[in-house]
Amino acid sequence: MIIIMKPDIDPAGDEIKGILNFVAQFPEVKASISGIRGTSRVVTEVYLIGSTHDVPQENIEKMAGVERVVRVSSKYRQIGRHGRDMEHLGFEYNGINFDQDAFHIFLGPCAVDTPENIGTMLRHFQQLGINTVRMGAYKPRTSPYDFQGHGKGCLPWVFELCGKYGIKVVSMEVLKEIHIEEIDNALKEAGNPTGVMLQIGTRNAQNFELLKAVGSQSTYPVLYKRGMGLSLEEALNACEYIASEGNRNIIICLRGVKTRLGDPHRNLTDFIHVPVVKRLSRLPVCIDPTHSVGIKDVAMDGIFEICHAAAQGIIAGANMLLIEAHPKPEMALCDGAQAMRMDELEYLIEDINIARNAYLQRKEIAQRQLFKKWKGH
Ligand code: PEP
Ligand code: MN
Repeated sequence: MIIIMKPDIDPAGDEIKGILNFVAQFPEVKASISGIRGTSRVVTEVYLIGSTHDVPQENIEKMAGVERVVRVSSKYRQIGRHGRDMEHLGFEYNGINFDQDAFHIFLGPCAVDTPENIGTMLRHFQQLGINTVRMGAYKPRTSPYDFQGHGKGCLPWVFELCGKYGIKVVSMEVLKEIHIEEIDNALKEAGNPTGVMLQIGTRNAQNFELLKAVGSQSTYPVLYKRGMGLSLEEALNACEYIASEGNRNIIICLRGVKTRLGDPHRNLTDFIHVPVVKRLSRLPVCIDPTHSVGIKDVAMDGIFEICHAAAQGIIAGANMLLIEAHPKPEMALCDGAQAMRMDELEYLIEDINIARNAYLQRKEIAQRQLFKKWKGH
């Protein structure tokens, strides 16, 4: 059961206390409180978990400060949409807003390599107005003999450079719980010059202990990448694991699924699931065209196939984009063959903006049509 409070109700105020007192009569039911930043307002939601069938909905509906009560199915209790008029599960992190209406481009290398390369990249991003980046310090590699990432050793200079170039959020993969602590320590020691989004990679998509670890902290938001062989239902359940530990600041990322049917691309693009994820859950949706396509082939029309894939996801309403880039792709220690070069980024952003504007126009037309229908025209 989700109790949606009226706007501007204080999560520590008397209205919430009243609800918690009432719920305390039901020992099988646990309550947790969450502030949700919707598109136009901030609302508090109280989640009742456990055997809620005995909790009388009508009584709660009449309590002070309550706007509405929604009984939720057992599926995706916390991240689920449960009806078209529920608020998005959006959040603000380090001054950047993430929700199902937002749009952000995260550029950067697969793996951190040298301060020179990272500095060059960040300077370019800043010139392009990009303040959200991606890069891996911990890399899960298919072969144990491949470069595994510089690990915690690179974090101090990475964060310092991010601060220098005005980067607000770095999406960075973590492979185990201790990595969260290492990132936390390095950020604090550097004086918090930037923010970090903890990325769960496709290879850890059902590592439930890791999901619980990122879910049980609330300092950092989580970018959850769909497992390369997971159904959408399994991927959404994995996000529910994170949320059920208390952290609802989650973005789900589609990055293609593994099948020979996607050949010659690295994965089969699954971006048609962008609107489906938005219908089933309240989470913002990211797409990763780089790892879907996996190679910088240029189509016959002159457009990179990575850009064609990006356009598919953006025109379907994606809220965030991960694109790999490197100043010297031939020297990159990981995934150089799929990285965009610095002199291609301006074009890339222009192309992306065309798809984003097309999506906004499509949405406007569709809503106009719906409005007509509602009015009986
Ligand atoms: C990455 O984004 O660097 C990455 C390793 O992606 P994935 O987990 O989707 O393979
Ligand atoms: Mn990569």
